[in-house]
Amino acid sequence: MLSYAPVAPLSLHSIAKSGTVSLVRHCSTLTAASNSNRRFPLRSVLEARASTLPTQSPAPHARSAIHRSLPGFINGSGSRFAAVSSHEKLEDEFELHKELFDELGIKKENSGVCNGEWGGSGPVIYSMNPSTGKILASITTASKADVDSAIDAARKAQHLWRSVPTPVRGHIVREIGEALREKKLALAKLISLEVGKILAEAEGEVQEFIDMTDIALGLSRSMPGQVLPSERSKHLILEQWHPLGCVGVITAFNFPHAVYGWNSSLAFVCGNSVVWKPALSTSLVALATTKIVHSVLERNNYPTSLAALLCGAGEVGEAVSKDRRVDLVSFTGSTAIGRKVGVWAQERFGRVLLELGGNNACIVMDDANIELAVRGILFSAVGTSGQRCTTTRRLFVQQGVYDIFMEHLTHAYKQVRIGNPLDKGTIYGPLHNHSAVSRFQKTMEEIKRAGGAILHGGKVVDGPGLFVQPTIVRMDPTAEIVQRETFAPILYAAKFKDLSEAIQLNNAVPQGLSSSIFTSDVRALFEFIGPNGSDCGIVNVNVPTSGAEVGAAFGGEKETGGGREAGSDAWKQYCRRSTTTINFGDDLPLAQGIAFHHSPPTSAFDAASASGEVDKLGYAVGGGGEDVVKGGITKAASGGVGGSAGTV
Ligand code: NAD
Repeated sequence: MLSYAPVAPLSLHSIAKSGTVSLVRHCSTLTAASNSNRRFPLRSVLEARASTLPTQSPAPHARSAIHRSLPGFINGSGSRFAAVSSHEKLEDEFELHKELFDELGIKKENSGVCNGEWGGSGPVIYSMNPSTGKILASITTASKADVDSAIDAARKAQHLWRSVPTPVRGHIVREIGEALREKKLALAKLISLEVGKILAEAEGEVQEFIDMTDIALGLSRSMPGQVLPSERSKHLILEQWHPLGCVGVITAFNFPHAVYGWNSSLAFVCGNSVVWKPALSTSLVALATTKIVHSVLERNNYPTSLAALLCGAGEVGEAVSKDRRVDLVSFTGSTAIGRKVGVWAQERFGRVLLELGGNNACIVMDDANIELAVRGILFSAVGTSGQRCTTTRRLFVQQGVYDIFMEHLTHAYKQVRIGNPLDKGTIYGPLHNHSAVSRFQKTMEEIKRAGGAILHGGKVVDGPGLFVQPTIVRMDPTAEIVQRETFAPILYAAKFKDLSEAIQLNNAVPQGLSSSIFTSDVRALFEFIGPNGSDCGIVNVNVPTSGAEVGAAFGGEKETGGGREAGSDAWKQYCRRSTTTINFGDDLPLAQGIAFHHSPPTSAFDAASASGEVDKLGYAVGGGGEDVVKGGITKAASGGVGGSAGTV
């Protein structure tokens, strides 16, 4: 480990080194315990970065749920609690943030489940501050029974909500935006504490949710349908967008507030209820956000089960994904988990919206504004400590400016102020969890084995918290390691000759989220954004890969999942479309001019008519069972495009 003195020293209680070690040991102890009964996956433990404090054994209701041994769920078996009994000295820093927590309704022990009533009968987990390694507060998570009741309550609430006029729904979402504005700073501080992102970026995250409520409000007064011309006389075709039902939203740790905002603002205004399964390690942000949404629903007398919450590990997400009552599963997270979620949802013909991993590249042409490109790429590569889905992970610089550009960029990296994300001046905080740090370390070892040259960083920062150095590596862009998304601040740099080579490199990875070119040449610009250019969902020019606005559709192609969220027409995914053809005439022509001969010769009808054997609907009386002739229809047939006599 490298010793590193943060520019802005950590001001929170520093954790004793033994505290950090004990948490790591704690995780491995749990894993060992779980491997024996296969009920406590390593991923869940690492994701939680949490521990069960033995001094706080689960509440009786939680314990009974644990002993029910729900299949597939985290099962807090006796051995699990025994496994952590020697780690009860883990420090907590709840009191340090008490004022903030009071403002957001967070207690030392919290329910992480709401189906209209707060509760939860799953295991208790502990949320940690990645800057200090200390415990923030505890959360009771969801059991299988909680998943069931939350979805049930959300569906019932939606039956009421879907009849509320869309502009009225828009007003409710607007009020959510107002409530978020009031708590913006507090929410941002909580995001910084629990995720580790710097305060400025955390405030931006809350702003994204607020901006989405504005989009939803506008949509509520302008949600379009279509009136289409019909090929048939006196016919009209309508397309309408109706509420879909219950939307399951599963979110990643790195945008614990905004991604729920993208989804819920649109889902609510479109007339749906939402069941939210946040990342386990960001349960406190989910709790605080949900309480704000609930405050608005309550004062307007709507059921809070419209915004149900299910804190829990992956098993909870799996249950939501597989549940037939969840009409749309909107999943944001890794490609590996998204691949499974997509199959589970589609197997039952549920809808799925996938926002998965990225492996984003910036291209710098010889004619680029170097200063602009350096600033943009620095933000895009080290922002959120390299833990944005749109983080710049690959950098291709044209050979004429490669040396000078890399010199400027490494110089800029040296200025990056690492420290407590809540401190002014810090632009780079910790990684989110221990597994991210170990992934960073393993990747650095792999880079060295593969012949990569470290131009900056590459080391874990010694001391409290989960800090690693922002890193630049000169690397063969075709190396296997470069094809993967390593969710850490590692930037792979390479030189290229011409634009076609750069585009080929940009597109040569399995992911397709974001891409960017820095150039002053209009031909290069249009080539890059055109059909032969970048194959990503986001294709920027003189703007780096991260930092999207909510007005446009957000998402990517290939292994990024193909989903689109936020603005543009993303709202349509939260609706079911109905097509209606209305006939306001007396005739019944068929589309495509189809002649459907289903009548005896006209003379038979004429004969029946002449003899008075035609009933008042125009059917020949006693005309032979099913084979009756409907005079009106026979007459009408000539009205349609290409219509012919006898069309029925
Ligand atoms: P992750 O895939 O580990 O977890 C995402 C969510 O899935 C969490 O809520 C987690 O609890 C849940 N989950 C875990 N196992 C599950 C299972 N078996 N069934 C259902 N749900 C399960 O991702 P992460 O580490 O939280 O986030 C980082 C990843 O998310 C990166 O790959 C990043 O690129 C991606 N991401 C993508 C976007 C986007 O818009 N494309 C945005 C943010 C993050």
